[in-house]
Amino acid sequence: MHSCKYVFVTGGVASSLGKGIISASLGKLLQSRGLQVTIQKLDPYINIDPGTMNPYEHGECFVTEDGAETDLDLGHYERFLNVYTSQANNVTTGKIYQTVIDRERKGDYLGKTVQVIPHITDEIKRRIKLLGEDGKYDIIITEIGGTVGDIESLPYIEAVRQLKYELGSGNSVVIHLTLLPHLKTSGELKTKPTQNSVKTLLESGVQPDILACRTELPINEDIKNKIALYCNVESEAVIEAIDAETIYDVPVLMKKEQLDVVVLKKLKISGYNETDLSKWEEFLYKFKNPTSNTRIGIVGKYVELKDAYKSIAESIIHAGVKNETKVELTWIHSEDLEDMPQEEMEKLLGDLNGVLVAPGFGSRGIEGKLRAIKFVREKNIPFLGICLGMQCAVIEFARNVLGFENANSTEFNPSTRYPVIDFMEGQNEDIHKGGTMRLGSYTCKIQEGTKVRSIYDKETITERHRHRYEFNNEYIQAYEKAGMIASGINPDKTLVEIVELTSHPWFVGVQFHPEYKSTVMNPHPLFVKFVNAALTVKRETVKSPTIV
Ligand code: GLN
Repeated sequence: MHSCKYVFVTGGVASSLGKGIISASLGKLLQSRGLQVTIQKLDPYINIDPGTMNPYEHGECFVTEDGAETDLDLGHYERFLNVYTSQANNVTTGKIYQTVIDRERKGDYLGKTVQVIPHITDEIKRRIKLLGEDGKYDIIITEIGGTVGDIESLPYIEAVRQLKYELGSGNSVVIHLTLLPHLKTSGELKTKPTQNSVKTLLESGVQPDILACRTELPINEDIKNKIALYCNVESEAVIEAIDAETIYDVPVLMKKEQLDVVVLKKLKISGYNETDLSKWEEFLYKFKNPTSNTRIGIVGKYVELKDAYKSIAESIIHAGVKNETKVELTWIHSEDLEDMPQEEMEKLLGDLNGVLVAPGFGSRGIEGKLRAIKFVREKNIPFLGICLGMQCAVIEFARNVLGFENANSTEFNPSTRYPVIDFMEGQNEDIHKGGTMRLGSYTCKIQEGTKVRSIYDKETITERHRHRYEFNNEYIQAYEKAGMIASGINPDKTLVEIVELTSHPWFVGVQFHPEYKSTVMNPHPLFVKFVNAALTVKRETVKSPTIV
């Protein structure tokens, strides 16, 4: 039987040290040696998934092919490994309890008292092992959210302790990510918080095998030896995780620190290739040595929190590298645009080479998005509208070109006379399980002779969705006559998935989320061509005198 080995990644000292990036980087290194790897995230919160959480709380909600609404770390895993994740890759306390309580109601526990130990911990272990059972992977990296010592993490740490014991020696390793604070006054890196964090882990019966230490400064041998001695790990297993310029540097830094070598040694795995990051390094080189630059504005309502648009920002990086250009992002708050004087808005947007209107829910900032779209449409500035951004492009066109006064989405005005974006009857029948939204991967057919057809260079594509509302097909003829065409259609439901303007150099709105599918090795064509349009579209047609 194919036996799969496990790497558990826990965090200590502080949150936000970058367990997700360390996990993804280790995954990348192991994958480059020819191992089949996947990464799983265990989140100790009680929400079933982050789908209902405000982006201010949790950053972006990442969506998988099979329609799971997940933690944004899964986005990093996919972007680094270039491999899809699924429902099974994100487990929450909410899901664990829901399963256990459902089972209890069905009488599956045969009259027993249902308890955290063993029932909750058993369910956690079952979920961890699930990914390993299909025989596809050599190594599963399981990242445990939160910080060791948190009350809500305890059942997870206990599950790790039991699994470590059950799997036996050489079949699992625990990597603990900690922080070495730098005291400027004494010029020292302090190891005590790391020692204490390891002690906390030891109280739960888990001895970490590897310590990855986040640090501002390089860690010398003395510090490594000291940490090794006080934390019972080998000195070579104390890994320096120094602050990096970009997240894309981390695999290279981890290779230098031989994180993968130590992991494979502890897992008693041999016979695989040498680590090969040559393609990754090529990407990194181009990223750091652009030959041109361009400016793109992102209009959204959560722009203060960059994590809310993580996948979009990363997709633009991938596309920038592909075009060998540095993309400078200007984050524009859609609410600020609502009552900005016209001249100021024209200056702000007119200075950009492209504008992207972001996804979102609810009416806040909509009018600002519509204003931005009117401007870029009229001034021939490249535009990409994603999900709500596409819906706004449709609304703006209705109001300002078709003359449909106060046209709207029924999400924002249920009694509008022109519901150009609407909740379509019957659309919910075959949505993937999970909620009331159209979630996950759907097919789209692209019409010949359109701009997007040349962008994708194929007729049938699949893209991921996360929305409730749709283009209202009743209006399709009016739009097409006036120059906004439905260039991509869902063949099963005849839902409009892509709109574009025939008389604009680059104006595309997509009902789906291309940002979920862009990876370092596979930058998404829509983003690549959007950035290219930003670089190349001549703006002679821009008439505003305020624009230089
Ligand atoms: N709020 C819109 C809808 O539900 C768009 C969602 C989105 O942008 N992800 O259809």
